[in-house]
Amino acid sequence: MTEPIANTTSPANPGAALDYELLLDCVHCGLCTAACPTYVETGNENESPRGRIYLMRGVADGKLELNERVRGHLELCLDCRACETACPSGVQYGKLIEPFRVAMESLDGPSRRDDWFHRHILFGLFPYSAKLRRALIPARIAQRTGVLKLLQATRLTRLLPAQLRRMVDMLPPPRRNEGPLPEFLPAIGRRRATVALFSGCIGDAMFRHVNWATARVLQQNGCDVHVPRAQACCGAIHFHAGSSDPAQVFADQNLAAFPVERFDAIINNIAGCGSMLKDYGHHWQDARQNERAAWSAKVRDVNEFLDQLGPVRPEGEIRAVATYHDACHLLHAQKIHDAPRRLLAQIPGLELHDLPESELCCGAAGTYNLTQPEMSARLSRRKLDNIRKTAARVAITSNAGCALQIAREARDQNMQLAVVHPMEMLDWSYRGVKPKW
Ligand code: SF4
Ligand code: SF4
Repeated sequence: MTEPIANTTSPANPGAALDYELLLDCVHCGLCTAACPTYVETGNENESPRGRIYLMRGVADGKLELNERVRGHLELCLDCRACETACPSGVQYGKLIEPFRVAMESLDGPSRRDDWFHRHILFGLFPYSAKLRRALIPARIAQRTGVLKLLQATRLTRLLPAQLRRMVDMLPPPRRNEGPLPEFLPAIGRRRATVALFSGCIGDAMFRHVNWATARVLQQNGCDVHVPRAQACCGAIHFHAGSSDPAQVFADQNLAAFPVERFDAIINNIAGCGSMLKDYGHHWQDARQNERAAWSAKVRDVNEFLDQLGPVRPEGEIRAVATYHDACHLLHAQKIHDAPRRLLAQIPGLELHDLPESELCCGAAGTYNLTQPEMSARLSRRKLDNIRKTAARVAITSNAGCALQIAREARDQNMQLAVVHPMEMLDWSYRGVKPKW
């Protein structure tokens, strides 16, 4: 370990929340360290997967006090799960860090999460798409009138609390207001599947155009698409902030909203939400666990689903040099690497250049960019440096957080870069639309 940490016994032990056997899967070989973004940036063993597993085990064994330093090393983890992809021993790191963090947070009761940011923004606003859309109206007006640019240029936005300022900086340029998706969109041509679309909370509030593109692409591929109105946030925002009970309420609301026997698949287009939806069966060990696991077994990322279905070949030409960034929760958590690349390779005219370190987190990681801004900024700069090396003018990614993060970094560096979802590319190609980058 780079930093020695004193061994003292702690009375409260979040290690009790872990399946101890999972800790023992780690043979401490260190093969994961080079894949870990925080270790790559800091070189601190405590900020590597192996180091964090040591820390959690030390706490679980009662040999290590869960002091602020230990917490800091664990909180700096992006939960990107790159270590799982790299680990030859099959360590299920997500099943260690996630329950450990939930237990760690609950040690303090709600107090640690009871600040204005958690209460009014993270928990009170983000999971509710209609509320979030309304809350964004003043910022959108400021954008359209140029007031926001002026405030940013004169650095007056610095008067805002830091987390709010970062949110304002992340806001993408305004675009045409698209209405909500209808509850049903019929298949075009022969019906090949009946699916339900999970539209997400931030997805519906800020990426409705991607939801529309996804629905149209599914229609083109012979899918009846249902969009249940009663659906809720996937629960990831609460769960990853250590607030498990409200996340469980959202999960059970989704179980009711998507009667799983009616659909061949529950489709989502945001990697972070998809990973959470697929994990409902692991997160809560209660009487409904099997029901949640059966529900999760129907969840598919849209790239994964179309690739398995066999996509109708898109014919519209899109002349562009692009690169594909792997969202952590698609590549590492859901193990989806080839599917989006295979889909994009079918678009005539599209030149896809390999992105160096594509598998390394861009620093968005859910709300990490708001809670750990320094590490987040280091990683987004690294990501843009790599994108620049590809000479691409279009970055394609399957996660809303990555799209916001990469686009913000490109704006900050005055780099001309369009950031889009694979479904937007396919949709344009199917419809013969020439995108205006
Ligand atoms: S997590 Fe896997 S790769 Fe990393 S040290 Fe443990 S066994 Fe080795
Ligand atoms: S989840 Fe990501 S940041 Fe956390 S230890 Fe694993 S590789 Fe490192």
